[in-house]
Amino acid sequence: MTTERLNDLPILFNRLHLQSLSPQQQQQVAAVDACLPQTQCGLCDHPEGCLPYAVSIVVEEEPHNKCVPGGQPVSDAIAKIMARDPLSARPSTWPVDPNTQRPTEVRAVIREDDCIGCTKCIPACPVDAIVGTGKHMHTIISDLCTGCELCLPPCPVDCIDLVQVPRSVALETAEYRAKEQAHLRGRYHTHLNRVAQQVADKSNTKPVTSMVETLLDNASHQNINIDAKTAKNTIAAAKIRTKIKKLERQLSIRQNDNKQAELADLKQQLAQLN
Ligand code: SF4
Ligand code: SF4
Ligand code: SF4
Repeated sequence: MTTERLNDLPILFNRLHLQSLSPQQQQQVAAVDACLPQTQCGLCDHPEGCLPYAVSIVVEEEPHNKCVPGGQPVSDAIAKIMARDPLSARPSTWPVDPNTQRPTEVRAVIREDDCIGCTKCIPACPVDAIVGTGKHMHTIISDLCTGCELCLPPCPVDCIDLVQVPRSVALETAEYRAKEQAHLRGRYHTHLNRVAQQVADKSNTKPVTSMVETLLDNASHQNINIDAKTAKNTIAAAKIRTKIKKLERQLSIRQNDNKQAELADLKQQLAQLN
């Protein structure tokens, strides 16, 4: 394994001081990073992604079983590189996919009717898979989504769902994995370089919202381009619409006077907010 992948990294990784590691450590970091899924989800307790976890395994002797999406195959592959005893992989909330022996992959899907266009999910996505502009419905490009789940917490109206996408056997080859991981790693680095540029540009009016932006020491004093009252009302209206839909579904199956009255009340509340 060459150490080429440790060159020309985004400035976020300067703090890893990779050039000060011994040649053997650099080779181990490169080899471990090459087995990691490059989902950049932070579930290994490294919110800046896979590379810092790889460094920590090599330099800090951090346990090698913490990559949740990688599951047992990745834990075992790292144990082999590092000549360590095998460890059971950190468990996932998703069941094991029998075709990969890894947790079943998921993709995020925005319930477009409920999206209020607040844009908060966009900076959270490490691979730039979400498109949309302020106050307009957003959407996720499924082919790019890795299912890292990082867009869920910032969404104020919980309108992002995760759907399981088991991998076909045809895609479970070392060659396909390597290509896919290189692509994701490249997208993440592009994302980081773009954010670093935005941070450096003091005339930039984009609000600071993601962990990476904060780490990149950006200014944190700008505002989302929606006034506070409008934002509050929009969120309240989205929540009411969700309740209305749920009630309408229930009432379409079985009539219930109390629920009918609740529905009428919610519709009135919604009318007042609009
Ligand atoms: S894919 Fe694995 S190594 Fe990479 S950030 Fe997620 S948990 Fe960590
Ligand atoms: S859309 Fe959400 S789940 Fe998919 S890669 Fe982006 S942040 Fe992760
Ligand atoms: S955070 Fe949620 S509501 Fe806001 S734009 Fe994204 S999906 Fe829509």
